[in-house]
Amino acid sequence: MIHQQLVLRGIRDPRVLDAMRTVPRHEFVPEKLRASAYEDRPLPIGRGQTISQPYIVAYMAEALELRGGERVLEVGSGSGYAAAVLSLLAAEVYGIELEGELHAQSAAKLARLGYRNIHLRHGDGFLGWPEAAPFDAILLSCAVEEIPGPLWGQLREGGRFLYPKETTLGFQELVVVTRTAGAPVVRPLAPVRFVPLRRAP
Ligand code: SAH
Repeated sequence: MIHQQLVLRGIRDPRVLDAMRTVPRHEFVPEKLRASAYEDRPLPIGRGQTISQPYIVAYMAEALELRGGERVLEVGSGSGYAAAVLSLLAAEVYGIELEGELHAQSAAKLARLGYRNIHLRHGDGFLGWPEAAPFDAILLSCAVEEIPGPLWGQLREGGRFLYPKETTLGFQELVVVTRTAGAPVVRPLAPVRFVPLRRAP
């Protein structure tokens, strides 16, 4: 997985490659899909949701340019896999998941595997986690047309916001936006496909 899927496709950051090598991806997929855990594709994790393809997780982690001291928020923490990868690259990771079942499973798993710097919450990530803000980086693991206002407000100046942006006709593009004292700096990265952000009923 590391060489074929990541290195040969241009993932360079040694810290990202190390994190991808360290996190046991098979622990984060449903039991019956374990044999497929390291394949080059997303997999279903229940409740109609998916764990992203390894390359996409590595690509997003690299795009966040984490150095180790950051506080990171992930909206849509799902299986907990991306949060586990990020936890090896930053100081603290906060993850919010809308599906109660996925939240409960991921919390139990991360505790069992010994991840101590990941904090998970069940709820609507549109609203962010104001008590833990500001964040140095925010990752949306589900697609939106526009960055939710409450989330943008929880990003510190100089911080990066990475998200799949819904464009026209169901296409999505991964975009990184840096918050500055002036106008945000927007950089489109790559076409992607994520499940949409849903609001709590
Ligand atoms: N990063 C995850 C991938 C999860 S897929 C992993 O590594 O497994 C996207 C997730 O976003 C889904 O689990 C979905 O339930 C969740 N989601 C959708 N809308 C949400 C919202 N408003 N708040 C929190 N999570 C949300």
